[in-house]
This record gives sequence, C-alpha cells and structure tokens, in this order.
Amino acid sequence: MTRHYNFCAGPAALPTKVLERAREEMLDYHGRGLSVMEMSHRSPEYTAIAERAEQDLRELLAVPDNYKVLFPQGGASMQFAMLPYNLLGAGGTPNFLYTGIWSKKAIAEARHLFGAYVAASSEANRLTAVPRQDEIALTGDAAYLHYTANETIGGLEFDYIPEVRKADGSELPVVCDMSSSILSGPLDVSRFGVLYAGAQKNIGPAGLVVVIVRDDLLDRARPDTPTMFNYKLMAEQGSMVNTPATYSWYLAGLVFDWLKNDVGGLEAMDAINTRKAAKLYAAIDDSELYSNPIAPLNRSRMNVPFVLADERLNQPFLDEADAAGLLNLKGHRSVGGMRASLYNAVPEEGVDALIAFMADFEKRRG
Ligand code: PMP
Repeated sequence: MTRHYNFCAGPAALPTKVLERAREEMLDYHGRGLSVMEMSHRSPEYTAIAERAEQDLRELLAVPDNYKVLFPQGGASMQFAMLPYNLLGAGGTPNFLYTGIWSKKAIAEARHLFGAYVAASSEANRLTAVPRQDEIALTGDAAYLHYTANETIGGLEFDYIPEVRKADGSELPVVCDMSSSILSGPLDVSRFGVLYAGAQKNIGPAGLVVVIVRDDLLDRARPDTPTMFNYKLMAEQGSMVNTPATYSWYLAGLVFDWLKNDVGGLEAMDAINTRKAAKLYAAIDDSELYSNPIAPLNRSRMNVPFVLADERLNQPFLDEADAAGLLNLKGHRSVGGMRASLYNAVPEEGVDALIAFMADFEKRRG
C-alpha cells in the first residue's frame, strides 16, 4: 500500500493514523460487533463518541463555556443561508468583508435571502491583500460582520480578527467562515459571535460542519427559520434534531484525538504549519519559474497558489508531479495555475518532497 502526498484543497488529506484507526474499528467497534456506521445515533456507544468529539474540540480550541458547539450537515455553503436566518430575527443588514470567491458566495446567498452589504473589499488590490480594520465601513443597521478567515481559492488569509462596534458603541457580532483554516493553530474563540467550518479540510469527511456559536445569539432567529436551520433547536437537541452524519462526526472525533495526542495540540500544529508554508513560499520566491501574487502578510498558510511563468509547462508539471506521488496540485478551475494545500494532515516531508520536485522541474524545464 502506498499513500501519496495529497495537496487537494478539499476533500483533503486525512492523517494516515486516523484512517488506520477507522479501519481497525470498522467492522467491530470496541467489541460491540457492529460498525459505527450501523449504530443508532441515540445508543450509549454513539452518544459517547459524539460527546468525546465535542469535548476534545472544546479542549483543543479552548472554547469558552458560553459557546455551543454544533455538528450540522450541508457543508459550509449551507451556513451561508443558515446564518442570516439565525441572526436577523430583529432585522438589520448583514455586513461582509469581500476578499475572494468564498466570501462572494456568502454575500450572494445573504443578498438573495434578506440583503447584504459589503463593508470593505479587496477588489481594489485584485484580492491580494485583506482590508485593514480602519477600512471597514458598516451600515448603521449592521446585524453582524461576516468574513472569510482564509480564502481557499485565492490563498488569502486574514492576519487579524476584525473588531467592530455598532454606531451606538455596542458590540457587533463577528461571524467567520473558518472552513480552510480552523485548527491550523490556536484561536481566541471569544472574539467571535459565530464561527463555522466545513469539515473536509482540517476536520474530517465532507458534508459535516462545525458551528461554534455564542449563547446569547441563539435567540436571534427569524420566525420563518426552517427547523433544520435553527441553531437553538440544534443546541437544545445536541445536533440531533434529525439523524446526524454519524460516521463523519466519529471520524472528526478521531482527527481531534490525533491533534491532541499525536500532534500535541494546536500550538505544536501551529509551529509545523508555519514551517511548512514558510519553506514553500521561500522556494517560490527564490525561483524564476514560480510566483505567488499575495501580499506577504496575507499569504495563506493552508493554501498556496502559484503560477508557472510559461503556461505551456502547466500540464507537464501536473503530469510529472502526479507520477512522483504529489497529487492534486491543479489550481481551482476559476483561477487556473497551481495550488498546494498544506492542511494539518499533509506532513512536512510532503512539503519537502514538493519543493524538491519543483526545483528539479525548474532545472530541467524552466
Ligand atoms: N468556505 C470556504 C472558505 C471553503 O473553502 C469552502 C469549500 N472549499 C466552502 C466555504 C464551501 O464548503 P462546502 O463545499 O462544504 O459547502
């Protein structure tokens, strides 16, 4: 069996140890004679799995007690709709920071439902740097500020957490799409009203979502919020308003366990991620063939897009990389070029192998 290095932006690499453990437990979970996939979500075994996962995530992120952790389905894109339903009960306009394709989709969905306003944008610098705090100009009736911590396609990451107030000086909830950067390092959860992440990068299998929401925001849902969209109901019923994505939730739990016990927590993960990204960007900056346009302060640690100076080399680059066991380096179809996603489960040796391959390719073909 060979496991290649997988640089896919999502569904992304999972830790080999996690997959091995899932394999061991697949047919007979802890002597119960059945698979986790075949368990009732209300059984004591599954309840323990779900609670352990939540507890480990709370520990990893030091989630304060006044926050609920939810495990809904529907991908991060469904949150683009669930958020306005849950937070606009008292009216107002959702305000957004526009920094790339994912924030654009979140804006479009909110606008389609109840309206949206772009309070600051990276358009003027062609999505190569995030707006600074003092450029954020909110509407007077702002209900919350939404931003995308890491634009997965553009490779643009916030270097700070925005802090915003309403015109009367009161606190305005900050809502953050953290799909492609959650768990990449420690985080001050108390700075957010809601943060959410699709699972398929740093958490587990696609479809599952993690939502972390501050208690006082659970009473802000619009009266027409669909049952399955309602955070408060989800919180009251332990994310089991209907049958949850049981196996994905279990696998997310194995990833949290791996982060805690194999990696040694998010500070250790943070150091590894910083090293991985720094060496790849250095290799790109040192080369004549490869380049990345993002302002150094906002270069993503998780998604490193780069282009080749000669586009005719794109296909040979991808073919040779694939043959060398370096998978999924093709950039998103909307922007072209290359993208190496360096999520938690991509080992540092994988990044070293990629850098060596890139240098060799440049020497031969550049
Ligand atoms: N937000 C971000 C930042 C993403 O990277 C993605 C997926 N690549 C999404 C939202 C959408 O996630 P999903 O496909 O789970 O709906």
